[in-house]
Amino acid sequence: MAFFFLPLIVLPLQAQWLESTEDWVMVHHHQADAANVQAILEAVYLSYNDISSNLGLQFHGKLEIYLAGKPAEFGELTDWKLPVWSQGVALTDKKMVVLKSPRYSGSKINLSKAAVHEFIHIFLASEVGRIPLWMNEGLAVMLSGEGYFDDAALSSASMTGKFIPFREMEQVLRFSPAEAQLAYQQALAVTRYWVTQFGWSSVQKFLWSVKAGDDWDHAFLQATGLWLDEFENEWLKKAGGRYKYSALKDLNFFFSWVFVPLIILGGVFAYFRRRRIVKKWKQEEEFFDYGDY
Ligand SMILES: [Zn+2]
Repeated sequence: MAFFFLPLIVLPLQAQWLESTEDWVMVHHHQADAANVQAILEAVYLSYNDISSNLGLQFHGKLEIYLAGKPAEFGELTDWKLPVWSQGVALTDKKMVVLKSPRYSGSKINLSKAAVHEFIHIFLASEVGRIPLWMNEGLAVMLSGEGYFDDAALSSASMTGKFIPFREMEQVLRFSPAEAQLAYQQALAVTRYWVTQFGWSSVQKFLWSVKAGDDWDHAFLQATGLWLDEFENEWLKKAGGRYKYSALKDLNFFFSWVFVPLIILGGVFAYFRRRRIVKKWKQEEEFFDYGDY
């Protein structure tokens, strides 16, 4: 009898949430994920000062991080609204981060950096309000130390001219995984370009203006002297050249954009050559008299 009841006793225990806190950061997790918790707490807590001084803002309130232990938990916590490729989310109005436990997602992402990334979205939303998505993602990637993405998608986009227009990036959640990858790389590249050309002080000016109620275009004009569209065009001009150059150094790129077309081109040439030869044979046949032999 005890054998049959055992699963019923074990399941509720497994689903129990535990809490760990460091000052204003709290992580809700299951026992099985306990090994990741300290690193997450420290990453958010220790990176806060740098993030705050770069953004020129202070975060108020408490941050709650949930480490979902299975797909149903992640779905419930996030209202089932996220695409499958999403590894984490910031529920900004609740100041709540939900991450998938690598135990079930199988993902190799750095969980601590992912937590900092999502925290930056919450920070910006609660202290500034809505900002353009490319900027929101770019700042989160830069300041979380997630660092450099593989820019293969950018290289390809520079050759085909198929960058995603800034305004379309707002729809990133409806994108396919490949488009989403390009959108993230582009967001990071554009934001990095902004910071290197105009400095963190320009980012701060923009954020303060939006916080004060300015629309994005005017806030950006004040911060950089450029309209958003002008900035986009300037970046496109530079990025086109820069990523074309890095495309030429990239082996993957050669394979997909140079090598494969070469094979196809070779095939086309071979086809026409064969046709020419067959035609020649036919012509020769016409003048050939079998009776000679
Ligand atoms: Zn993000």
